[in-house]
Amino acid sequence: MKKKPKTKAAAGRAARKPARAASRSKAAPAAGPARGATPERVRAILAKLDEAYPAATCALRHDNPFQLLISTILSAQCTDERVNQVTATLFPKYPTPQAFAFANPRELEKEIRPTGFFRNKTKSVMGASKRIVEAFGGKVPQTMDELLTLPGVARKTANVVLGTAFGIASGVVVDTHVQRLAGRLDLSRQGDPKKIEQDLMQVIPQDRWILFSHQLIWHGRRVCQARKPRCAECNLEKLCYSKDKIV
Ligand code: SF4
Repeated sequence: MKKKPKTKAAAGRAARKPARAASRSKAAPAAGPARGATPERVRAILAKLDEAYPAATCALRHDNPFQLLISTILSAQCTDERVNQVTATLFPKYPTPQAFAFANPRELEKEIRPTGFFRNKTKSVMGASKRIVEAFGGKVPQTMDELLTLPGVARKTANVVLGTAFGIASGVVVDTHVQRLAGRLDLSRQGDPKKIEQDLMQVIPQDRWILFSHQLIWHGRRVCQARKPRCAECNLEKLCYSKDKIV
């Protein structure tokens, strides 16, 4: 049972408490792109990214859209380098969607173990392959809605496949680097990748979505690293007012 305040003063303090607690609670970021995402600033950021990474592209090695899909599924929580090492032997062994769809799951688990989360990834790889065989005639579908019906495929993976394999600008790839950099460059103040993507899609011209994703990923890997951003080497430094900036 709730205790009664002993004095008038205590009663007053108790009455004020909820208001103070509410004012202390962190306000959710406002919907819509961050204030830093003005057209001029976005243009300047894109120009600097073009200067630094004119030919940024996907680092996952693949010969066709299906291989890119499998590599992207394997790349969750794993470096592209490690994925490339694994797929160098995996793809010759499983050359088609059929081969993955009807693989021996225990054997496949062993093959993809070095990429981590291998049980779930095996389920996703086999599930996606089966659906591609059964519902899409063995071909990777080319729409976001269809790709999202594949087990283990969410918007990030679908955007990678559509953008890199088919040149279709369906959205912006929001991986851990893009998530961090969208915040540091004040293009989005959201924390949820889906909301960050919506913000970026509003401020980045659609014909730049594919290249922009690759450029931010490259910048995040090479310069604007999570723990120690190399701000002294960053060509975006003058445009950046992040609290993480090291000057
Ligand atoms: S100045 Fe530093 S924090 Fe800002 S984008 Fe460049 S590396 Fe990242």
